[in-house]
Parts: sequence; structure tokens; C-alpha cells
Amino acid sequence: AAQEGFDPAEVEGDLAAAGHGPLPVLAVVGRPNVGKSTLVNRILGRREAVVEDRPGVTRDRVTYEAEWSGRRFKVVDTGGWEQDVLGIDASVAAQAEFAIEAADAVVFVVDATVGATDTDEAVVKLLRRAGKPVVLCANKVDGPSAEADAAMLWSLGLGEPYAVSALHGRGTGDMLDAVLEALPEAPAQTFGATIGGPRRIALIGRPNVGKSSLLNKVAGEERVVVNEVAGTTRDPVDEMIELGGITWKFVDTAGIRRRVHLQEGADYYASLRTAAAVEKAEVAVVLIDASESISVQDQRIISMAVEAGRALVIAYNKWDTLDEERRYYLEREIETELVQIQWAPRVNVSARTGRHMEKLVPAIETALAGWETRVPTGRLNSFLGEIVASHPHPIRGGKQPRILFGTQAGTRPPRFVLFASGFLEAGYRRFIERRLREEFGFEGTPLQISVRVRE
Ligand code: GDP
Ligand code: GDP
Repeated sequence: AAQEGFDPAEVEGDLAAAGHGPLPVLAVVGRPNVGKSTLVNRILGRREAVVEDRPGVTRDRVTYEAEWSGRRFKVVDTGGWEQDVLGIDASVAAQAEFAIEAADAVVFVVDATVGATDTDEAVVKLLRRAGKPVVLCANKVDGPSAEADAAMLWSLGLGEPYAVSALHGRGTGDMLDAVLEALPEAPAQTFGATIGGPRRIALIGRPNVGKSSLLNKVAGEERVVVNEVAGTTRDPVDEMIELGGITWKFVDTAGIRRRVHLQEGADYYASLRTAAAVEKAEVAVVLIDASESISVQDQRIISMAVEAGRALVIAYNKWDTLDEERRYYLEREIETELVQIQWAPRVNVSARTGRHMEKLVPAIETALAGWETRVPTGRLNSFLGEIVASHPHPIRGGKQPRILFGTQAGTRPPRFVLFASGFLEAGYRRFIERRLREEFGFEGTPLQISVRVRE
């Protein structure tokens, strides 16, 4: 009954049009105040996103979906990343380095009225080394008289500088045409599409939780470094490690092993590293120091993995140090601080003694299985039909929004699209998620549920 009036072929078409395949990723990088956020807003065709006039305003990395000339892509706004911890050069470089890793193409924004600075030159070096397509945006060219400033930027050796005024929209069309030419149709790093080869694990957690100890413990003598790029100190290194008879790829372990070399700004840098590792992985193993209170930083690291849509395992380390009292309080903390990720498999380990190392692999496999679960459309809809009948949405303004039809648009992680006759409140969406988990498992995976309103 839930399917009444719906043509599955039409729904499939809707999903394709809505871009439910993976989209290529464009990163916008550059020094603070060159106009990155203004440009991103311009690309998105709206103005409400925050643009502030101060350097160093802390904002999180944000990804938007954009469209130009009928093609859809994602835009990563690195504007407003925290600048003060590392010093300007290092933080801009780190930001660009991260963005390059995650992107399929890069827009490098330079303030044409200022010209190329040493910091800009440093970013150019990184861009060149990475070999990703780059479109050079000479920004703040508000009128014809500033065109000459833009031409000066040929000196950066990145090809044609596109003279743009992000503020007024001047020249952005030509620049976006160049962006579309630079962007591949589908992302190169579609982690979801890469089947075969060892599964990729990101071992993450705040400093001192025991990541390198755990890595050493599980690696034993078997460790093989597979991806060391010579000549640089900060390149990611992946290691193949055999566990439970299976070979796994631990991504970006350089960030773990080299932590001793990082001095000030280490936390900030570590967080960029974490994001980059998560980006490359299929499953994140978040290590938590069980001997200490669960911190905001632990939660932020977990959020990174969940928001990136990766499978998740939580490992409570240093279990050898816990007395009965701490164990009691730990359970209380888990109940209050980590209630949103109750679905993640949990292991209590000790990297020092080797306790429960053998439980790691089953937990990882469980999470990956949940991540790849697909519910057939027929089963999903009989389940949704039952929910609608037994737990209808509350009546709002005399109307009762109803779920009409649902489909699973993808896996890794599972993504659902629900078609409804009206807006579904957050509480009801959470209820649906909870019921989906009860019914179909999904252990160890975030779920993405979007709702389309049909008149
Ligand atoms: P971000 O730090 O690189 O993200 O830079 P913002 O987008 O926050 O812009 C920094 C400042 O430059 C703001 O005051 C913007 O209004 C201004 N700005 C950005 N683009 C342009 C432009 O094309 N022309 C002019 N005149 N100002 C601009
Ligand atoms: P990382 O910064 O996350 O890589 O953490 P390390 O592996 O360097 O560990 C930080 C400290 O915690 C070191 O002194 C380790 O010896 C200690 N440590 C790591 N795992 C355990 C464990 O399971 N039990 C105990 N007692 N100490 C541990």
C-alpha cells in the first residue's frame, strides 16, 4: 500500500537526477582573506553562508553540493580554518595539503590586488607535487583596471590566471567552465567503488591513546610499508598488516609514527591527518584511552568518521590499568557521552598486554558488513508500511505527513531516500533510523536518510 501511485522507474530516475552517485570533489584553497568563502558562496549561487571580515575566524571544513552547466560536484570550503596554532604559513600549507589529498581538482585563490606572496608560492609547490588539476583564481579583480594585476599571476606557473571578482560575480563563469574541464566525471577516490584489494583501516584517536603501541602490537614482524614517498617528511604511509589471516591496509600510519617530530600545533596537525586518513579508509577504528575521561576531542574524532560515512569500531585501550571504580565510571560516560554511536561495535583492549587483540578483526568485519548491507526495496517498503500504520507521524497544522515510499539509494554507508507527503520532523526521522537498525542490523555503520516531499 505504501507504494501506491509510485512508479519505481520514475523513482530511480529521480535518484539519478538527484546525484546519488558519487560526485567529484573540488577544493578551494588559499591564504586567509583572499576571498575563498565569498567564491564558494558565489559558486553555490547564494549569499547566506557566513563571510566575515576577520582573518583567523574558526570555522569547520564544510562541503557543499554545487552545480554548473548541468554538472554536479562537491565543493570543499577550507576558508576560515583555524590559523593561530601553527602560524600562517604552516597552517595554509597543511590546509592545502589536506584539501589536495581529498579533492579531484583544486581552485587556488590568490588576491590579485596583493599579488603572489611567499605563502602563495609555498602552496604552489604543494600543488605541483600533488599533480592534481589546478585552476588559478585571481580574485578581487572588481573592474577592468585590475585586469593587469591578474596577468601578473602568470608568474606562478599554474597557467592562465582567471580574473574574477567573487564579490560581484565578474569572471566566475569562465573560471567555472575551466573547473568543469579540470574535474573528472566521477571522483578518483570513490572509496565505495573500489572493490578488491585489502580493506582500508584508519586507526585514529587523540594523541597518547596508544595508536602507535597498538599498531606495533598488531603488526609484529609482519609490517610492510607500501606507500612511502621518498624525499618528504609528511607523506602518508600505508602499511599492510596481516590480522586474523587477512591482510589489511592501515592507511596514513606516518601520522601515527611520526608524532614525536611534531611540536607546537601538533593537535591541529593531528586533526588534519585524522581527516585525511578517514577520507581514505573504509573503516575507522577509534582508539580511546579508557583510563581517562572521554573527552570532547574523542567525540570530535568519532564525529569525523561518522560524518565521512565510514564504518566505525570503538576500541577502549589501556584496559590493563582499569580498576573497578574506573570501569564503573567509564560505562556511565559511554552511556552519556557516546549514546549517538551505540551502534558501533566495541572492544576493550590493551596494546600493552595484547588483551583482546583477537576481537579487533571480528569487530571490524561486523562494521564493514553493516556498512555494505542492502535492504531490498520490497522488504524496506513492507517495513515502512508497518511503521506508518503502527506509529504514524504526529499531526501538524491539521496535516499528517506520511511516508509514501522508500528506497535504499546506496551502500558504504547505507543511504536511504524516503518520499513523504510532507515534512518529517527530526524526532520522527530519528525514530525511523532506530527502527531501521532494530529491523536490519546495520551494526557499525552510520545511516544517511534523506526525505523528499511529494505533493
Ligand atoms: P577567505 O578567508 O579566503 O574565505 O576570504 P573571505 O571570503 O572571507 O573574504 C575576505 C574579504 O575579502 C571579505 O571582506 C570579502 O568581502 C572580500 N572579498 C572577497 N572577494 C572579493 C572580491 O572579489 N572583491 C573585493 N573587493 N573584495 C572581496
Ligand atoms: P599514540 O600517541 O596514540 O600513538 O600513543 P602511544 O602508542 O605513543 O602511547 C602513549 C602512551 O601510552 C605510551 O607511554 C604507551 O606505552 C602507553 N600505552 C599505550 N597502550 C597502552 C596500554 O594498553 N596500557 C598501558 N598501560 N599503557 C599503554
